[in-house]
Amino acid sequence: MSYDNKSASNRDLTDTFFDFLAWVARALVWLGLGAFLVGLGFMMFYVFGPNLTDPGKIQQATNNILILSKVLDAGVLGLSVGLGYLYFGEETLGPLILVGSAALYFAPLALPSVAGTQSSAGTAALGAIQSAGVLGGVVGIIIVLLSVIVAVRERATLGAKKDTLKLGKDVKAEKTQNVLLGSCWQLPFCRKFVRDRCPIYHSKRTCWRELVGCMCEEEIIMNAMQNKPVAKNDLVAASAMIPRNHKLTDAQKRTRCKSCVIYNEHLRHKYRVTVPAIIGTYILLYLLLRSPLSTEFTGLITSTGRLIGSFTMTGSGHKVAAPPVWLPEILTAVIFVLALSYTLKIVEYLYFNLKI
Ligand code: SF4
Ligand code: SF4
Repeated sequence: MSYDNKSASNRDLTDTFFDFLAWVARALVWLGLGAFLVGLGFMMFYVFGPNLTDPGKIQQATNNILILSKVLDAGVLGLSVGLGYLYFGEETLGPLILVGSAALYFAPLALPSVAGTQSSAGTAALGAIQSAGVLGGVVGIIIVLLSVIVAVRERATLGAKKDTLKLGKDVKAEKTQNVLLGSCWQLPFCRKFVRDRCPIYHSKRTCWRELVGCMCEEEIIMNAMQNKPVAKNDLVAASAMIPRNHKLTDAQKRTRCKSCVIYNEHLRHKYRVTVPAIIGTYILLYLLLRSPLSTEFTGLITSTGRLIGSFTMTGSGHKVAAPPVWLPEILTAVIFVLALSYTLKIVEYLYFNLKI
């Protein structure tokens, strides 16, 4: 089998595999939706249904709720994992799953007042809805985290090329140096032939600061091709030889840089340095603020419960149980993860959309 045939058949196999995964994900979404509706429907029945007093019936209802809670959990899991696979990378997916999960989690605070008298079966059903909310929340956080990790990896490797910039087919950047945060002549797109005759290089300047370079000013290329002499070992004389284009404004020249491979490579370097710095800062902040924030969240959850209780007419004196110890801790971690994710998205926007 020739190399071309072999790689085509490998591609076919890969496509078939991913088609199969997409099919599984769609099946998960539909099965998950079904299980979710069945589970939630029955839980609602136990919340809003008759107030059971017969111990035998209460026992039977409790057993049913135990089984149905697994159906509900499976539904939430199938739905969120399936949607997570199918719409991975969509900005709104993670937050939507988190909001839906929060609605399930806080259901026990809102529903009892609507349902009126609460039976023990109803209370167990509300507990099951709340657990399903925690499960959905965990999947939502994992999706947000994964999408940020993938985006960071792609940006650190490809920079703006991820969106638009491409070298022509089969055209490769010359194998040269690539110094982190280096000047234009330390990046892979500086060609030796031009560099040797380039006043930017010999004056040790950087083209995007001078707003003139080999990708935008034909004079630099022409001089190189005509082998025009350039001042070497004399920074001042070399900088005086940098050609100046007075037909364009500085703003127009800056716009020109934004679509240039050289400047975009420089932005990619900035991104690669900024991301670890931001992650480090967040880790430090988390270590410093974890404990006080957890305490704040304990109070916040209790007052939210009280507020929902009073809005839903449970009564102003309604007593709200303190949240489990792990909840404020998890909430603090979640807030940090989300803040970190969105900070990274902002950085990505600044570097690769606004290109500053
Ligand atoms: S302007 Fe171009 S050729 Fe000159 S130093 Fe910069 S990258 Fe190299
Ligand atoms: S357009 Fe490119 S070559 Fe020209 S100054 Fe900007 S970054 Fe340098």
